[in-house]
Amino acid sequence: MHTRFSTVLSGLAVLCLCLTNAVANQDFDAQRRTLVKEIEADVTETSLYIGRTRLNDRVLAAMAEVPRHEFVPKNVREQAYLNRPLPIGYSQTISQPYIVALMTDLLDVDASSRVLEVGTGSGYQAAILARLCRSVFSIEIIEPLGKRAKGTLKTLGYGNVEVRIGDGYYGWQEHAPYDAIVVTAAANHVPPPLVRQLKPGGRMIIPVGGRFAVQHLVLVRKNQHGEVTSKQILPVRFVPLTGGH
Ligand code: SAH
Repeated sequence: MHTRFSTVLSGLAVLCLCLTNAVANQDFDAQRRTLVKEIEADVTETSLYIGRTRLNDRVLAAMAEVPRHEFVPKNVREQAYLNRPLPIGYSQTISQPYIVALMTDLLDVDASSRVLEVGTGSGYQAAILARLCRSVFSIEIIEPLGKRAKGTLKTLGYGNVEVRIGDGYYGWQEHAPYDAIVVTAAANHVPPPLVRQLKPGGRMIIPVGGRFAVQHLVLVRKNQHGEVTSKQILPVRFVPLTGGH
């Protein structure tokens, strides 16, 4: 009798836990919708810099769908839908959602695009891209971060993302050339290997500037003749691109 009673009790506990999770997830859904509204407001506010008054609907839909709380450490999960960067360990951060949305929009990708990301971090930016592109190749220099991101992406079913550990300054030659490249750590110059790995007609978005200096988001374009132009978009603050280059 006693065991039966405790079985019922533990059954109830499981049910409560499931219900709590369901409520929490609904809450996260609502928070994500609010976040998208905040991103749209930031876009309007910065439209003179970024040359657009709204982002592509597909980008906003991806931002509304990808569960950012699954990509951040448990101790900051409750803050996952604030429009802010958050610590992810190893002195690194997951970027501010507005910046992720903007960088993704500027890449102008579609369902056939093959994209390279330098700086996997939590894997969140890779997940956003995975919803919009054919395939994402992402490089992370800090091994435990790369491994964790790989696990998160696998658990959440993002089958079109490949993560590897290495110095992304040199790109990922094996899968080049890319339709788009996104660098999520600040370099003091645009890495020439990445320019080489960009397809004619391709785009790269990269924060450029020193560790303590003003950094700018720079949009690099390679035209069909292979000529490269670049344009400063917005002052930003990113963690530095490290490595031996
Ligand atoms: N895109 C990430 C943001 C991560 S912050 C996200 O969505 O969470 C930048 C990341 O770039 C850090 O994880 C840092 O370790 C990584 N990084 C810095 N220098 C690098 C390099 N040379 N090659 C690959 N990754 C690098």
